[in-house]
Amino acid sequence: MGKVLQIGAGGVGTVVAHKLAAQKDVFSEIVLASRTQSKCDAIAKAVGGNRIKTARVDADNVPELVALLKKEKPDLVVNVALPYQDLPIMDACLEAGVSYLDTANYEPKDVAKFEYSWQWAYKERFEKAGLTAILGCGFDPGQTQVYTAYAAKHHFDEILYLDIVDCNAGNHHKAFATNFNPEINIREITQKGRYYENGKWVETGALEFHKGLNYPEIGEKESYLMYHEELESLVKNFPSIKRARFWMTFGQEYLTHLRVIQNIGMARIDEVEYNGVKIVPLQFLKAVLPNPGDLGENYDGWTSIGCRIRGVKDGKERTYYIYNNCSHEAAFKETGTQAVSYTTGVPCALGAEMFMKGLWRRPGVWNVEEFDPDPFMALVGERGLPWHEKFDIDLEL
Ligand code: NDP
Repeated sequence: MGKVLQIGAGGVGTVVAHKLAAQKDVFSEIVLASRTQSKCDAIAKAVGGNRIKTARVDADNVPELVALLKKEKPDLVVNVALPYQDLPIMDACLEAGVSYLDTANYEPKDVAKFEYSWQWAYKERFEKAGLTAILGCGFDPGQTQVYTAYAAKHHFDEILYLDIVDCNAGNHHKAFATNFNPEINIREITQKGRYYENGKWVETGALEFHKGLNYPEIGEKESYLMYHEELESLVKNFPSIKRARFWMTFGQEYLTHLRVIQNIGMARIDEVEYNGVKIVPLQFLKAVLPNPGDLGENYDGWTSIGCRIRGVKDGKERTYYIYNNCSHEAAFKETGTQAVSYTTGVPCALGAEMFMKGLWRRPGVWNVEEFDPDPFMALVGERGLPWHEKFDIDLEL
């Protein structure tokens, strides 16, 4: 049993709060804090049962965070605010003596750059303080790394080729919307692609390489090679990997809108002056786009995310595909959010549970594949994300 303090009350935060609250034997107390307290109050009300206490905090402000942590004395902070807040929250955790978990790697506001170096640099400080930091515990990053660790532990002597495939075959019936925070999403998708091959990173144009891949129960969807942060830790932690890539599906409408947004300068992340006020175009765009947290009501279809792996077991080549399919409608029925928030929130809350139970607790800063995947895999199905395996099939990649 332990006390958890969750920061962030958006789409992902809504799911995390529901899932934490459901585990009464694990989380004795839950505090939900965010920049806008009314959003925390609305989530607490939807969860019900007086399970969640709320607070207001500006997570860019370390002294404010430290004051809240010292007042509430949680065992763990679950950060589902934005990647910009990762470092201030980690600083505050160190100062207040609290462990830490998040779902996305730190990004500086002024450069769309995805790498773990900033957070890995905290390893020694967390070690010395006897505190655990668990990085990237959503679905991707997160569950995809647990899948890889599980495959390495049970099905392969050596993993040689890894392709993470992320398909959203759902329809929200809007002309254009992003499935999670629009600013973070557009920054991610408009950056150059990158994959790992034979010990080197190979750079590609943004969404330059694509091909049709078949997803179980869904069919063929055009899938685009992108860079994704978990590739960085996976090739470090599984050095037998010769090639690691990440693929995500996009519809033509989405890509057309994205191209226009970029061409007219609305994806810019530098400040421009408008009527004497400084604005960042992409942040302004977020204010007028649909709120991802509100997409659930009319969302139908499925997401399908998994790992396609080729390697060697007992001297023979083996292929393996492990995945989860998640229904937007079922996610909405349970938590009031769509499947992209749901598939992020479930592993996040389960990671917090792993910490509370002492199963994923080790001083230092860790990516999820560095912990034992078995206790997580044993529970993630009943927590809402059942997984399926296919052996020795054509991986198409
Ligand atoms: P939202 O924009 O819906 O929610 C973000 C929340 O953080 C809001 O409640 C927001 O408050 C709050 N917040 C922002 N800045 C601050 C601040 N300075 N202080 C306190 N609170 C703040 O985002 P999502 O829920 O879609 O995403 C949450 C996180 O999940 C992101 O980091 C995203 O990258 C990550 N993610 C990870 C995935 C994975 O699979 N690993 C997949 C999808 C998302 P306010 O309401 O006031 O704006």
